[in-house]
Amino acid sequence: MITEVIKANELTKVDPVFGQASFNDHEQVVFCHDKDTGLKAIIGIHNTVLGPALGGTRMWKYANEWEALNDVLRLSRGMTYKSAISGLNLGGGKAVIIGDSKVDKTPEMITRFGQFVDSLSGKYITAEDVGTTTADMDRIHVVTKHVTGISESIGGSGNPSPVTAYGVYMGMKAAAMHQFGSNNLSGKKVLVQGTGHVGETLIDYLTKEGALVQIADINQAKMEEVAIKYGAKIYEGDIYSADVDIYAPCALGATINDDTINKLKAKVIAGAANNQLAVEQVHGKILMEKGIAYAPDFLINAGGIINVYAEIVGYDKAEAMRRTENIYNTTLEIFHFAEANGITTQQAAMSIAQKRIDDRKKETAK
Ligand code: NAD
Repeated sequence: MITEVIKANELTKVDPVFGQASFNDHEQVVFCHDKDTGLKAIIGIHNTVLGPALGGTRMWKYANEWEALNDVLRLSRGMTYKSAISGLNLGGGKAVIIGDSKVDKTPEMITRFGQFVDSLSGKYITAEDVGTTTADMDRIHVVTKHVTGISESIGGSGNPSPVTAYGVYMGMKAAAMHQFGSNNLSGKKVLVQGTGHVGETLIDYLTKEGALVQIADINQAKMEEVAIKYGAKIYEGDIYSADVDIYAPCALGATINDDTINKLKAKVIAGAANNQLAVEQVHGKILMEKGIAYAPDFLINAGGIINVYAEIVGYDKAEAMRRTENIYNTTLEIFHFAEANGITTQQAAMSIAQKRIDDRKKETAK
C-alpha cells in the first residue's frame, strides 16, 4: 500500500520526509491526527536558534499529503529567514491543516489543533494564514497561550495586513532610492497585482504619495471597488508586459518565472507575495543581469510577523511600526551588500539572515 502511494507520487527515489526536496535541515516535523474531528495537520519546525518557531497555520485542500508536507517544509524554512533578516528573536515554523477551510473546518477541529500546538510547549507558536482567521486564533487561545494574531479585544494585535503593507511600501521606497536615486514615488507608474488585504493598503499609501497606480485582480468586484476608492486605474492586458516603473506582486507567488521574466519592463519589483521568484537562483540572477532592482519578498513583507512578534514581547503598536519602518534601511543595506559582492539581492538577504543564525549558534555554544 505504502509502495503504491509512493509510486503514485513519483517519490520512489527519496525518503518520505528527510528526502523531500524541501527538507532543509528542519529540526522537527510533527504529524497531528485526530479521528474524531477529522484533523490532519503537519507542523514544521525549521529552526529555533534565534527563538521559538513562529509561523501561521494554513488550511488548504492539498491534492495529497506529499503536497502538504512539501508546503509546510518550504513555508517553515521561509519563516526562519524572514524573522532572522528582520532582527526578531524568533525561529521559523509553520503548520498546515489538510482540508478545505470553507467545507471541512469545524470549531472542534481547530480546538484539537490548538491542543497539539500546546503539546509542543512553546517551541512552535502559531498565527493565522490562508484558510484560518483571527476567530480561529481566538479559539486556539482558549487551549494554549502559544498563539498570536488574536483579537485586540483579548489582548492581541488583530489583522497584520496593514502593517505588512507599510513594510512593503518602505521596501519599495528603498528600492526606488537605489534604482532611481530618489525614494519619492510621486509620478512613478506602479502596477499593483492583487487588491486584497495588503494590496489595498499599499495602494492607499501609493496614491496618497502621488504615484500613478494601476491595479489588476481576478476579483473584478474588489478591483473596481478599490479603483473607485483610491482613484487607481484598472490595468487591462498582460500584467507582465506593462509599461510601468514598478511592479508590485501582491497576489500569488512565482510570478517571476520563465514565461514572464523577459517581458518585464518595470525597473523595480517590490511586493508582498511570498516566493515571488519561481526558482530563486535562476530568476534572481536574470533580474540582476537585466538591471531590475528586486526587493526580496521575505524581507519587505515582514511587517506582519513584526506585528505579531510585538504581541509576544508585549504589544506596542508604535514599536511594531518603527521596526517595520526600518525595512527601508535594511532593504537599502541589502542592495549595497549585493552590489558590493556581485550577488543577487535574494542571495544577499539570505546570507545576512543565515549569518545572524550562525553567530547566535556560536554564541550559545560558548
Ligand atoms: P488576499 O487574499 O487578501 O489578497 C490577494 C488578492 O490577490 C485577492 O484579491 C485575489 O483575488 C488576488 N489574486 C489572486 N490571484 C490573482 C491573479 N492571478 N492575478 C491577480 N490577482 C490575483 O491576500 P493578502 O493578505 O493581501 O496577501 C497578499 C500576498 O501577500 C499573499 O501572497 C500573501 O501570502 C502575502 N503576505 C501577506 C501577509 C499579510 O499580512 N496579509 C504577510 C506576508 C505575506
